[in-house]
Amino acid sequence: MESIFSNLSKDELKFQSEVNEYCDNEIAPYIEDIENGKIDIMDVVKPMGKKGYIGLMYAKEYGGLRKSFKHELLLAESICYHSLPVDMSRGASIYPANLIRSFNKIDTLGKYIGPLCKGEKIGCFCFTEPDAGSDLSRMKTIYEKDDANSELILNGEKRFITNGSVADILVVYGRNGACIVKSDWEGFEVVEEYNLMGLHGLHLGHLKFNNVRIPEDHILFFQEIRKDSSGKRKSGKTSAISSMQQFLGPERAMLAVQALAVARRALEVAIKYSVERIQFKKSISEFEGISFKIANMVTNYEAGRALVEKSVANIHNGYLAAMSKLFACQNSYKICDEAIQILGGIGYTDKYPVERCTRDVRLLRIGGGTDEIMQYIIQKGIYRK
Ligand SMILES: Cc1cc2nc3c(=O)[nH]c(=O)nc-3n(C[C@H](O)[C@H](O)[C@H](O)COP(=O)(O)OP(=O)(O)OC[C@H]3O[C@@H](n4cnc5c(N)ncnc54)[C@H](O)[C@@H]3O)c2cc1C
Repeated sequence: MESIFSNLSKDELKFQSEVNEYCDNEIAPYIEDIENGKIDIMDVVKPMGKKGYIGLMYAKEYGGLRKSFKHELLLAESICYHSLPVDMSRGASIYPANLIRSFNKIDTLGKYIGPLCKGEKIGCFCFTEPDAGSDLSRMKTIYEKDDANSELILNGEKRFITNGSVADILVVYGRNGACIVKSDWEGFEVVEEYNLMGLHGLHLGHLKFNNVRIPEDHILFFQEIRKDSSGKRKSGKTSAISSMQQFLGPERAMLAVQALAVARRALEVAIKYSVERIQFKKSISEFEGISFKIANMVTNYEAGRALVEKSVANIHNGYLAAMSKLFACQNSYKICDEAIQILGGIGYTDKYPVERCTRDVRLLRIGGGTDEIMQYIIQKGIYRK
């Protein structure tokens, strides 16, 4: 199957071929060991920093390659073709740097960007809470000012945080602010690491912050919460939440690319298998029951590619990004599931990667905004017009 993006420039093609080679040599051989817990996912993620593949878009002096967002998508596609969790972990690790930059905290960024890009430190971003998933205005995590000095005090809980249980540097959003937190500070606690249906090896953490003190230079944004005459806290959604909305378009395009890359892998396996597998004295691809499935799978893959390309060309259009994420993630899951069907019994075992692809890609209908939230955004865009 063709890669998701067509009409690549010479430079993009060269980059794609380099990362494909890297992924074949440095990621593919370790997938099973990550899956079975024999090696830690970070043993594969961290070395990517030496190649500039963690902070790809950052300057070379920090450990990046100063590449474009399109290159970032190409890299994600190549990695996800082999392993979605490896790419999720890589992406989450550099995310704090993107957030710090979005608040224009250039001096602070200088301290952290190098170690994050080079894979010397692991990062994560913390939005989701037990009571605040799709609806982040329900966040309870809160920053309070210590009047004796210029520090803030952080209290709250975050769950489903990629890299959360192994991260060194966290960017934590609360209902009235966002700050950088280091995991060796007093009051930070990893409550648990989740066991997952797929994405084996991913470190998904439930975290607690108990009176964590935040020095002034680690504050990205803070808004004092007003209290009414009875002393009750007022205010809900803050501009800290709105500040992260600028990332949603690019992030959703990225999730769509990740989904299609996983689907492409499953599709390739299914097509090859359908030609090689003989039943009733024929290759099963000669049965319409199978070849029509392949026709639908390829059609959905191609439609997903077209939507993703349109959304990437209009990267800050949230409506298109939501549509491409919804379509790509739903259909990639269907493609992977049909791939299992085409392989029959062996598809349900780990002898082929299709069962892993199905379990892994299922997350993308939930993470980064659920299908239902994408549908909500799309219908809003339609009726607004
Ligand atoms: C593997 C994994 C990695 C993750 N990584 C991170 C991370 O690094 N950082 C982070 O902050 N978060 C992360 N998340 C959290 C993820 O973004 C949330 O799980 C997601 O946003 C959904 O929130 P929720 O799970 O609380 O579901 P809920 O919001 O409780 O939703 C439950 C159901 O209700 C539906 N629903 C909710 N509101 C509406 C509505 N208005 N209309 C219709 N249906 C609705 C949802 O679509 C869903 O079907 C991760 C999650 C997973 C599983």
